[in-house]
Amino acid sequence: MISSKKIKTTCSYCGVGCGILASVNTQEKVMVEGDPSHPVNKGMLCSKGMNLHYVVNDTSDRILFPEMRWSRSHPRERVSWDDALDRAAGVFKSIIHKHGPDSVGFYVSGQCLTEEYYIVNKLVKGFLGTNNIDTNSRLCMSSAVVAQKKTFGEDSVPISYEDIELADVFLIAGANPAWCHPILFRRLEKHKEQNPNVKVIVVDPRKTDSANFADLHLQLIPGTDIILYNAIGRRLIETGFVDQNFIDNHTENYLKYRKQVMSVSLSTASKLCGVPIDDIRTAADLIGTSNGFISMWAMGLNQSAIGTDKNFALLNLSLVTGRIGKPGNGPFSLTGQPNAMGGREVGGMASLLAVHKELSNPQHRQEVADFWGVDQISPNPGLSATEMFDALESGKMKAIWIICTNPLVSLPNLKRMEKAMANAKFVVVQDISHRSDTVAYADLVLPAAGWLEKEGTMTNSERRISYLNKGIDPPGEARPDVEILCDFAKRMGFRGFNFSNSEEIYEEYAAMTKGTSIDISFLNYDRLKNEGSFQWPVPEYRHEGTPRLFTDKKFHTPSGKAIFNLPAQIENTSEKPSQEFPFILTTGRVRDQWHTMTKTGKVSRLRTHYSHPVLEMNSIDAYINKVKEGDVVEIKSSNGIVRVRAKLSKNIREGVVFLPMHWGKQLQNDLNRANNLTFTRVDPQSKEPDFKFTTVSVKKYKKP
Ligand code: SF4
Repeated sequence: MISSKKIKTTCSYCGVGCGILASVNTQEKVMVEGDPSHPVNKGMLCSKGMNLHYVVNDTSDRILFPEMRWSRSHPRERVSWDDALDRAAGVFKSIIHKHGPDSVGFYVSGQCLTEEYYIVNKLVKGFLGTNNIDTNSRLCMSSAVVAQKKTFGEDSVPISYEDIELADVFLIAGANPAWCHPILFRRLEKHKEQNPNVKVIVVDPRKTDSANFADLHLQLIPGTDIILYNAIGRRLIETGFVDQNFIDNHTENYLKYRKQVMSVSLSTASKLCGVPIDDIRTAADLIGTSNGFISMWAMGLNQSAIGTDKNFALLNLSLVTGRIGKPGNGPFSLTGQPNAMGGREVGGMASLLAVHKELSNPQHRQEVADFWGVDQISPNPGLSATEMFDALESGKMKAIWIICTNPLVSLPNLKRMEKAMANAKFVVVQDISHRSDTVAYADLVLPAAGWLEKEGTMTNSERRISYLNKGIDPPGEARPDVEILCDFAKRMGFRGFNFSNSEEIYEEYAAMTKGTSIDISFLNYDRLKNEGSFQWPVPEYRHEGTPRLFTDKKFHTPSGKAIFNLPAQIENTSEKPSQEFPFILTTGRVRDQWHTMTKTGKVSRLRTHYSHPVLEMNSIDAYINKVKEGDVVEIKSSNGIVRVRAKLSKNIREGVVFLPMHWGKQLQNDLNRANNLTFTRVDPQSKEPDFKFTTVSVKKYKKP
């Protein structure tokens, strides 16, 4: 009999952050099950989590050795780690010497562990002398980050999953948690089963599984979210369901908010949003009469040209009703990636500094510089995700180092991104799998350790920090990302990277949090390993963590009050449908796939749900356009073309089509990629791309 050891760890997919028990046998083969003692999932796992062991056990796609090419006309060949990192250091030194530090950049991932995020930020902002480090969380959470900072004074998620069981009205906006945050959704389903008074409102142009479960589905026209939330706000004010005491004592700017929401009548809002006026009234009345009101949102709000403003409009509903800082109440931004939150804590975006300090604040920059023992942090704003690729295309940026992400499937306007990558002088890709389309552009490929092959921490959507255990050795010569980055930093001649393990990096970061709003200086690896996960802040010895923020109604703004931020304009600023491009394309996810399928795409049972990408199209639109179920359709935007089969449905609004974003060139062909069609248009405040609104034409494809 083969014996096995069992270790506790955390799922590496979505921001729900489920606990996993991984069994590792003597042949290093892994099995997984849900951890019944973990407060997030209590033993449950979704289809992706319960199949994680297939991803680990199948190493056929893994990058096993460093690979390098000396020129673009030569193939990459296997090299030693010394040669690989010496070359990387040599090229980075030479480019920075000739063109300055802003000519290089790093593009990382919400799947990086907190220690990895911390060390790469220290390296780039503290020592390379540029703020050009951004993350694929820019594509996912940045609108929520900006809105939370401007509303609460800091990027703070006020509530916990345990509040789900304490609330009775839920507004799920631009999210399909039934597919994308399944274990969180299971908790909501169970709560509603046990409490028939619980009501769920879903706002989405598609009738998703989440919308099917809802008591009220507001199937709005894409881009009209602000008008809808303002109309709900107006109805709350008109019916007196406001918390005047909270508004007067704990908020700013209410009168301007009141004026804005009162400027559009409910009947006008109803017409503009395509939502019946009675449904708007019902939604407001449910919220107003609830004992506990939670709003949950994700990409439908964030991935928009007006994403930050959409967030403001939704957050304002919690402020006007005073539903924050109390059990079972509050706004809840659902993070897509497992460590999007942890990345933000350590300053893992071009616009942020560690421990929620501001890059634009000279005093904050000096505090971080002093902590790291460097003269200064550059005052130049860093480039965001799409800006970095623009800079590669224009030649302003010469070198990019990409860690644990596959931008050549996930970024918008892929043809342009491909040109940008081809134009780069030097591309480093540090990742686990050859299944990434991005690897093809790399001059240097560095094999990284994957899930269960390294240790570290992550923070989930509810600020819960969990420890991830190492259970097996990485295959071939793959190394943990922190080791690779510290080794590179030393070869660049930088001090401050002499860490012998992840725990030492965590301790340095935890010390940095002391006295801040995200203080975890009393939370160490021993506590995480022995006592389980904790929600920040954990500011005192033996502190049990903080499930809820703002219970004292003190916010992090200069006045200590939360701020009603007004959307700059209530209408969408994306392009309008035209005769040439009459449909609105929205892109998104399917239940069993994760991001660009480099991991979930390996698991045959996860491919049975959707074996290939399809365009979801309203049956009436299909009839008018002579498209039948299963026909190959050609979808065109002014940017590019996609050809996939049509899936007819009554669950999507007329005039709207939906395409999943997971498939890349490697897995299908370059005409299956949703991001051939999307634009690099971004929200001006958050720089998050507008993935949810591209105008397209759809025609049955006839072979020439
Ligand atoms: Fe993993 Fe998210 Fe599924 Fe939980 S809900 S098992 S964290 S993918």
